[in-house]
Order: sequence, then C-alpha cells, then structure tokens
Amino acid sequence: MQNRLQTAGMLALLAVSASLAAQDPDFRAVLDEAREISYHAHWREAQALLDDLAPSIDQAELREYADFQLLQARHYVLDDRTEEGLAVAEALLERALDPDQRVQALQFRANIAVLLRRYEAAFESLSEAIRIQAELDDPEASIATLNMAAYMLGRVGEYDLGADYGEHALSLARETERPREACIALQRLAPVYKWAERPADAERTYREGIRECASVDNDLFVGVHQYGLADLLRREDRADEALPLAEQAIAALADAVYTLGEYEARMIRAEILLDLAQLDADWRDELDRLKDFFAKRSLWDQSARLALLQTELAEAGGDFEAALMHLRAHNEAREAFLGRERAMRLAYLQVEFDSRFQRQQIELLRESTRAAQLEVKATRQQRRLRTFGWLLVGLVVSGLISLLYRAFRSRRRFIELSRHDGLSGLANHTWFFEHAQAMLDDAKVGSQQGRQIVLIAADIDHFKTVNDRFGHRVGDSVLGRTARRLREVFPDDALVGRIGGEEFAVLLSVGHIDDAVACLETFRRSGSDAVRANDPTVTVSFGLSCARGDDDIHSLRNRADAALYRAKQAGRDRIEVDAGCYRETTDTDSSVNTTG
Ligand code: GH3
Ligand code: MG
Ligand code: MG
Repeated sequence: MQNRLQTAGMLALLAVSASLAAQDPDFRAVLDEAREISYHAHWREAQALLDDLAPSIDQAELREYADFQLLQARHYVLDDRTEEGLAVAEALLERALDPDQRVQALQFRANIAVLLRRYEAAFESLSEAIRIQAELDDPEASIATLNMAAYMLGRVGEYDLGADYGEHALSLARETERPREACIALQRLAPVYKWAERPADAERTYREGIRECASVDNDLFVGVHQYGLADLLRREDRADEALPLAEQAIAALADAVYTLGEYEARMIRAEILLDLAQLDADWRDELDRLKDFFAKRSLWDQSARLALLQTELAEAGGDFEAALMHLRAHNEAREAFLGRERAMRLAYLQVEFDSRFQRQQIELLRESTRAAQLEVKATRQQRRLRTFGWLLVGLVVSGLISLLYRAFRSRRRFIELSRHDGLSGLANHTWFFEHAQAMLDDAKVGSQQGRQIVLIAADIDHFKTVNDRFGHRVGDSVLGRTARRLREVFPDDALVGRIGGEEFAVLLSVGHIDDAVACLETFRRSGSDAVRANDPTVTVSFGLSCARGDDDIHSLRNRADAALYRAKQAGRDRIEVDAGCYRETTDTDSSVNTTG
C-alpha cells in the first residue's frame, strides 16, 4: 500500500497549480513560461529558466517570489531531493502569503509530508488548506484540495468518505471544463476504489483516466494510470491483460523521467511475470536493482513486496538459503511498513482530523447555502430558476445532514479500528487485555453465583514451518482461518483476541470448566476448513486458567501461559488446565464472585 502512497503523494505535486497575476513583467513572463514547461513538458527545462532567475529573485514581489519557490520546491522533489523541497515550502509558509498561494504551499507541504511519512504535518496542512479554501472562489485550488482529501482519507481507511471527495473533485473538474484537472482527479480516485475493494469502479476509473490524460497529452499520468490498472488486473487474476499495460507504463514513465513511478511499474511487471510463471533467474539483477532503489528511499512496502518476489524466485531455483535470507528481509520491511501504517492512523486520530474536518466542511456548506439563497433572491422573478435554487438549497441541507451523520459514523469506525486486529478481525492485544480486566472486575461485583471466569491461552504449533514451507501469504490466511474457527466455537459473549503473531486468547464465563474444554474439543474436531486442497492444516496448543478472587488479568494470564507451556512441552496439540480450575468447582466458596 505504501507504494501507492508514495506515487500518489508524488503525483499530487504535479497538481499543485499556481494562479498567476501580472506584477513584474520580467519575472512574471519567465515564471509563466517555466510553469507551463514544468507541468506540460519537461521539468528539467523549466528548472533551467528558474536557474536564470535565481540570482535576482530576492528583488521580486512576494507573489512572484512565492511562485518561484513553489516551482523550485516541486523540482527538488521530482529530482529526489524531497527534504529540500519540504524546507522550501515550510520557509514559504512563514511569509505573509496571499490566501491562494498559502493554499498551494499547504497542499504542497501536505503531499511532501505524506511522502516523508510526517503524517501529523500532512493532516494539519490539509485541514488548514480546507479552512482557507472556504474563503476563496478558485475551482482549481478546490479540486486540488478535494483530490488530496480523497487520497488521504482513503489512506487512513475512510474509503467511502475518500471516494465522495474524489468524485466531487472529478465532477467539479468536469463542470468547469478542466480536462487537465479531471485527469488528475481520476488518478486520485482510482486507487481509493482499489483500496475500498471496488474493482469494477477502479477499473472503469483507471481506463477513463488513461483516455482523459491522453487527451491532454499528460503522458506521465497516462503511465501512472496504466501501472495502477496493471496492478489491479493482476490482483484480479488477469495477469495476461496486465502485462502489456505494465510494459507501456514503464516506457511512458521512463520517457517522462519519473523514476519512482518507473521502478514501481517494473516491480509490478515482475509480480505479473511471477504469476505467469515467466520470472526466471535472468530477472535476478533487475530485482536486486529495484530493491536497492527502494531500500535507499526507505520505501518499506515496495521493499517487502520485492523481498517476497525474491524469496519465491530463490525457492523455485532450489536455493533455500537465499530464500530464507529474503524472507527475513521481507519480515523486517513489513514490520517497518506496518509501524508506519499505525503512525498514519494515529496521526489522523491525534489531530482529531475527522471532527475538525467535518466542521470545516460544514462551514463550506454554509457558504454555499448562502450563495444559493442569494441566487434565489436575484432570480426571484424567474420561476424556473427559483425552483432550481431551492432545489439546490434542499440538496445542500440534505448534504449537511448526511455529513453530520458521517462525522458520527467515522468516529465510531475509528474507535473500532483501533481496537481490532486487521488480519483476523479479533480484539487486538491492547483491547483484549483492557476489556478482559473490565470483564473480570464486573464478574467480581456481579452476581454470577457458581460461575467461573476462564482464560484460554492458545498458540499455533510449529507455525514457523508453515511460513517457511508455504510463504507468508499462506501463513496469514491460516491465521485468519484459525481466528474464524476460534470465534465460531465460543458463545457470543466470550472475548476472543489475537494477542500476538500466532497467539490467541479467550476470556469467557462458564458454569463449569468442562464447558470451556468442550468448546475447545469442538474446535479441534472442526480440523481443517481449508479453502483449497493444498492449504496447510495446523494444530493448536491450549492452556486454561480460572479466576480467583485476588486475580487480576495478569496473574490469571501467567497461570494460563504456564499451562500452555506444559501443553507445548508435552508434545503440543493438546489442552492443559491449571489445577486451580478443578479446586474452584469443588470448593464453591472460593469461586470468583465470592470475593468481590
Ligand atoms: P511452537 O509450536 O513452539 O509455538 O512453534 P512456532 O513455530 O509456532 O513458534 P515461534 O514462536 O518460533 O514462531 C512463530 C512464528 O509466527 C514466527 C513468525 O514468523 C510467525 N508469525 C508471527 N506473526 C505472523 C503474521 O502476522 N503472519 C505470518 N504469516 N506469520 C507470523
Ligand atoms: Mg508463539
Ligand atoms: Mg507457535
């Protein structure tokens, strides 16, 4: 996912546009020309013009100076000098810029911050850009901000909201007859559909993007659409159709000297070739080159994907030592990547982006309501127009209501996301233990006379072997299936969590410890529900402990872990119950609830 983040972040720079007002004829004329060349021909030629201006740019008016710096910053980023680009934008934001230029600088900063994974800065910039936007009437800037909102909301998993913004940007571009902006909006919208697992919408949007961008001679974006589509088709098991697209994308992006995009397209081509069983040892050098490129730039997602490819290539060639080395590299890159994903989500929560964002959007809508009402007044005499105006007001009001509803829903959804593990859908480590402690406390004060609280610690046996033999992707699907089977055998009020890589835990209340054991026996009997014939089956070891009056979740867990350890020692694939569980049922006075 990170690769899309990189690409889209980078590409959005190309969307940052400048509205230019003539002040100093010399500076202005050269800047206009440089901008035109930079956006629609080759940026290196545009940089040559900037280099000519550079010695005297300090004498320019602030507007020209800002346009110069924005263009310069964009070129730094295209030239792989991202940090320098960011520094230029940040220095510029210190100046008293006009609102339209401030919005451009903020959009630029948000995009770069995403590239550099400074997510908090990214969301802050976006928020501020939206706030200022409300004071401007500049469709081009609005489209750019909406595009960025679409992309960033998509990145944090707010797919519906992201798609809404993307669609809004696209229709604004179409309504105001701006095909260049429509091309960019399509490029932003298509991946949001892809992440949202709406492949049909994504495919349609990519294809529309290829057409639209070709019609405005934006070859670079044609290339980006092509490899986005190639990646989508490969995921849909349509590798045959994907291959020529990837080849076209590589050529287009090499022509445009957009190296990051070209390398991503090359990686996707290699993945496609692997699916077509055409990736042989001849490709080893290419893969090494790509991996170096991504590693140097800390692009962990691409690094992880490449390492996986290399693992499979080495495995196919019988070189298991190399395969193991690549698998380790894959794991490390993946960890780094997941760490950054979490950082992004956290940043989103930290700036309370959702609520602020919604408030600002509501402000925007109020503005348009006022505008709509004014329009109604002005055309009072003309019945048809008046009807139309009220229709607009009605639309805006219903838009407001739906935004308020969405604000509420997205907050709830983020709370859910922060509590659950993405792979299994079960409670994650933090939420499991927080909630388990609360359930224990409730049981103590509640009146569950004669009931026992049981903690089950579960660990898949020899899971490393599954990864080593079948690869991580299969390992992940085994984890998902095991989680599902566990969830199914316990009553709905049992708390089931994934507390570590291949470790699970269950907290439940039972009449007798044997009830918990019976659930586990059902689990063991359910055996394999493998989807495909060759899917591996695994066994699981269990350790059970029962709550005493003086227990907290940690002491309870220690005994369950000790029992689990005994199960492993005794040969795995078995259930070990802490001796205390049987004592408790014979001596009902010491059961959990008596000491509350
Ligand atoms: P044991 O029976 O002693 O528990 O052996 P084991 O191989 O299951 O235990 P070990 O702790 O040595 O290895 C656990 C493995 O689980 C190592 C790690 O690669 C793998 N693992 C952890 N998290 C994930 C994950 O999210 N996906 C996949 N595919 N593998 C994971
Ligand atoms: Mg383990
Ligand atoms: Mg294990």
